[in-house]
Amino acid sequence: MARLNEHYEKLQAGYLFPEIGRRVNAYAQENPDKKIIRMGIGDVTLPLCPAVIEAFHAGVEEMAHDHSFKGYGPEQGYAFLREAIAKHEFQDKGVAITADDIFISDGSKCDTGNILEIFGMNNSIAVQDPVYPVYVDTTVMAGRTGSMQKNGYYEGIHYMPCTEENRFIPEIPQKPVDIIFLCYPNNPTGTTATKQELKQWVDYAQANNAIILFDAAYEAFIQEKDVPHSIFEIEGADSCAIEFRSFSKKAGFTGTRCAYIVIPEKLTAQNSKGEQVSVKKLWSRRHSTKFNGASYPVQKAAAAIYTPEGKKQTEEIIAYYMENAKIMKQSLEQQGFSVYGGVNAPYVWLKTKNNMKSWDFFDTLLEKIQVVGTPGSGFGPSGEGYFRFSSFASRENVIEAMDRIKNASL
Ligand SMILES: *Cc1c(COP(=O)(O)O)cnc(C)c1O
Repeated sequence: MARLNEHYEKLQAGYLFPEIGRRVNAYAQENPDKKIIRMGIGDVTLPLCPAVIEAFHAGVEEMAHDHSFKGYGPEQGYAFLREAIAKHEFQDKGVAITADDIFISDGSKCDTGNILEIFGMNNSIAVQDPVYPVYVDTTVMAGRTGSMQKNGYYEGIHYMPCTEENRFIPEIPQKPVDIIFLCYPNNPTGTTATKQELKQWVDYAQANNAIILFDAAYEAFIQEKDVPHSIFEIEGADSCAIEFRSFSKKAGFTGTRCAYIVIPEKLTAQNSKGEQVSVKKLWSRRHSTKFNGASYPVQKAAAAIYTPEGKKQTEEIIAYYMENAKIMKQSLEQQGFSVYGGVNAPYVWLKTKNNMKSWDFFDTLLEKIQVVGTPGSGFGPSGEGYFRFSSFASRENVIEAMDRIKNASL
């Protein structure tokens, strides 16, 4: 008799984006004449830049000829891409990461979801609240939690509330945790952590032999000078952290798929005999067993981001989104909202007025002015009373959405 992995039955049915879709579709059917502006989902809107497209085409062309055809590539990723990443993302910025520490994949969603596989089942796991749902759901699927409780938390996960009271920086846990997911610049709040704040976490991890899983998917959106781009800018992080990076938001690869994990040589974890074992070695074993490499033309396309033209074009696209974010932030502040994020991240996180619930604010926006955003409570209980707008939209739509909010005096 075939049996299910019953841990899947603990999952709350993919609620947030399907529910948004359901409400928007129902409204659209009843009001076919209304123009709905969608600023909810975290997906890029601008096309790949010319330098990337050119390299992508050239990579495809190579596949068409005997002399340049490629079969399976190295599971860890082609050296040309790993070396370009090591140089441009880390070494040029004074961070000692080498090409050997980098594992190319087809996305950070899979990487953050798969990483726990190499860690024992008895680790306690901490996540920020609100949170990118992948960390939590994959922890549940792996059988590392109990059921969802009434307060919206799974039993057995250590949740760290991030609200305006603590400036969206979680408090250091009172009881020891072993594995800590941190995401900065943060999705959904759009906020960042300073070097000092990250240093406290690195110190904590070192003192407790814990490991930080640092998701830096939005690193490229950082505009201010002193905001850390990588956990490895913090002294000591190379012995207690793993970093996740993705080309999805940085270079519009959400539909093209390319990302990477960085695992320093020095990072170890203990086995039950008390021996320190290389984490990189274990991940390498896992990656080469379950993954056969990202597509060659895609890796060629990703490497083109590091050419002078690629860099310039990528920066222009990011500047466009960040101008959108700035317009939203200014306009919403003028309307009297408390607004967070939007300076070093493509998300603007606002606090509703008069403690209005996130979903009530969603319905009000949809019904009164046909603007769609994402209810903060969908990312976790501490997101209640907050709302996320994404700057991945056309300038025209951003301006119109802000005008509608202004005219409706919400
Ligand atoms: C979009 C996003 C990613 C990137 O996921 P991919 O699978 O690489 O597209 C990773 N982490 C967070 C928090 C994100 O919002």
